[in-house]
Amino acid sequence: MSPINSSTIVAKFGGTSVANFEAMSRCAQIILNNPEIRLVVVSASAGVTNLLVKLGNEVLSANEKESVLQQIRNIQNSILNDLGRPVKAQDVISQLIEQLAEIALHPLLITSTKLKDELLSFGERMSSVLFAEVINKISGQASAVAFDGRQVLKTDSSFAKAEPQLEATRKQANSLLKPLLKNKVVITQGFIGQDNFGNTTTLGRGGSDYSAALFAEAVDAFALQIWTDVTGIYTTDPRITDKARPIKEISFDEAAEMATFGAKILHPATLIPAIRSGVKVFVGSSLEPDAGGTWISKEVDYRPAYRAVALRNEQTLLTVKSPEMLHATGFLARVFAILAKHKLSVDLITTSEISVALTIDNPANTPIAGLVAACVKDLSSFCDVNVESELALVAVIGNHVEHNDGKQGGAGRIFSSLEDDQLRLICHGASEHNVCFLVKQENAKDIVRQIHDDLFSV
Ligand code: ASP
Ligand code: MG
Repeated sequence: MSPINSSTIVAKFGGTSVANFEAMSRCAQIILNNPEIRLVVVSASAGVTNLLVKLGNEVLSANEKESVLQQIRNIQNSILNDLGRPVKAQDVISQLIEQLAEIALHPLLITSTKLKDELLSFGERMSSVLFAEVINKISGQASAVAFDGRQVLKTDSSFAKAEPQLEATRKQANSLLKPLLKNKVVITQGFIGQDNFGNTTTLGRGGSDYSAALFAEAVDAFALQIWTDVTGIYTTDPRITDKARPIKEISFDEAAEMATFGAKILHPATLIPAIRSGVKVFVGSSLEPDAGGTWISKEVDYRPAYRAVALRNEQTLLTVKSPEMLHATGFLARVFAILAKHKLSVDLITTSEISVALTIDNPANTPIAGLVAACVKDLSSFCDVNVESELALVAVIGNHVEHNDGKQGGAGRIFSSLEDDQLRLICHGASEHNVCFLVKQENAKDIVRQIHDDLFSV
């Protein structure tokens, strides 16, 4: 398929970037300043998805529901007011709110993942309508149009964590989206899709980045811009040390490690379509569009040994031992079959003949804790299982991080600032782009600060 226009840029604006009229106006200016931005993918206005989740997950009285609905209405109304209450947009928004209220009161909502996904879709559906309106107000002409992205982003029926169907998505993009992009700036929704039966699906929380990358792939875009509230990716979390520096460019490989192990700037799946289709990705702040940001692409000019130090808290370490498995085969297969059954994904792993230690990202207030407990129970039927929590994963990311070229690289240098008793597990070897290790969460920030200062102070 030949690109419609190899300079097409897809721009994604996150929840804080479309939080209100003022934020939307700033983003509209970014779009109007760059005629190559043809397709725009938006999140729900900040806070709206959380309110929708509340409606879907909590048992609320009618009054409580009404008060949550009112909070949602207020967010939309304040944008409509600042727009001067245009009749058409006002009508569309009130219809959407009516439909949303109806689902919120549906007796089966709490137990139906299908209804919950339908409910969650309203945040993006409303923000996209309002954002198109803001662009048109600022540009003084009807240059932008809201487009129902569910017509294009086709998925399977795994509600709450739907898998995109690439062929179908590309086909729909070719017939419905590409022709529109020639004349209009098209504003569509992140996060939501549609299955083969016409049901609304969602890609999982924070999924708009992923949607944007899927759209960029489907329209053969030249680049994807992710506009958020940080000026790109830093050498480490700037809240940990003021010596953190912005990274100008980073390779897909390194960025994929950052997305897996580091601060959650991008939804971890975002780079999959980008790598597959070679679309380069820019991450910048819509608050400071001129402050620059980070470019992520296949080819980069500079590949330093150390690029960044990433930290992820709330890790659970499972150590699974089975003396019976000495010289037997299939031990790891059995362990992983159980992990797969519970849909748990493993980040780090080290093994010995009869035991395996593995980490699971286990953030508080998510269903993962329940999955881990069920998995431990299953594993206990044939193994001794030890569970340790409150651990943190530190990842040093770069290029040939392990090589000591006598000047700068080397794993030894990474560990030199650590005390003997601070390391719980070390992992390296599968990728030349990271050295990962586990430490106690209470010490993690100090350790990251020390390593960062040591590796990045020139
Ligand atoms: N609105 C969705 C969420 O808050 C998706 C996104 O913003 O990426 O999770
Ligand atoms: Mg987001």
